[in-house]
Amino acid sequence: MRKKLVIGNWKLHGSLLENQGLLNRLKQELHHLDGVDAAVCLPYVYLYQAQSALQGSAIAWGAQNVSQFTEGAYTSCISAKMVAEFGCTYTIVGHSERRALKLESNQVATKRLLNALHAGLTPIFCVGETLDERDGGMAELIVRNQMLNVVYGLDNEAFALAKKLNMVIAYEPVWAIGTGEHATPEQAQRMHAFIRMMIAERDREFSEQIRILYGGSMAPKNAESLLIMPDIDGGLLGRAALVAEDFIDTCRIASHCWQQQVKLKAQAQSPAVVV
Ligand code: PEP
Repeated sequence: MRKKLVIGNWKLHGSLLENQGLLNRLKQELHHLDGVDAAVCLPYVYLYQAQSALQGSAIAWGAQNVSQFTEGAYTSCISAKMVAEFGCTYTIVGHSERRALKLESNQVATKRLLNALHAGLTPIFCVGETLDERDGGMAELIVRNQMLNVVYGLDNEAFALAKKLNMVIAYEPVWAIGTGEHATPEQAQRMHAFIRMMIAERDREFSEQIRILYGGSMAPKNAESLLIMPDIDGGLLGRAALVAEDFIDTCRIASHCWQQQVKLKAQAQSPAVVV
């Protein structure tokens, strides 16, 4: 049974003082939740603070991106290896806000993904369509194109690393990010199942193991309806990750959904009682 994974993407938010309060609250409240892993992805400059605050806790931390380069004359770039030195477990790659700023093509996102894997980081690879693309009936085509490099573009060595490090996919419809409008559970489930099927084209075992998160205005008020879906293995949260109660409540809801799914699975597997 896949554990749920709830990750906060802090984006361009935070200060040393505010972060300390938020990290302390998360550490206090999220020390034992069945079936849930939790993590926060912060701006680079706060990774040391996260490491100091969260080391030894149940919460992992990570970066919001890594460079497509590994070393050299690339002013302002931060490599995956540098990020790994701060104890990071995760890095986000290919977030739509990066793609929208035209900083990230599928090819560049794949290079970042490879660098993350080679540095021992678990990439959270983001995919998702715009509203125009959805309205034009192209949502699956767009997501398929974004996924192609991951499914077929990685050589066997990189794919084995992705498996070993439990690479994560985040389905984030662009129209739902930061808008307060989320995909319906049915829309999200359909896309998650589609992504899982694509991964199965290359490796059936990995398709059962990989966690596919939903991102786009997830909050306590809609989390249960999304997280109870069979192929939605967690959430990537932006706005709701900045409010301790919202992030903590979403993690608790994820745990509740996981427990429900475990029960359902056990019932489905128990032999039928013949009267
Ligand atoms: C995100 O940026 O990944 C995100 C999902 O943001 P929000 O939750 O604010 O929509």
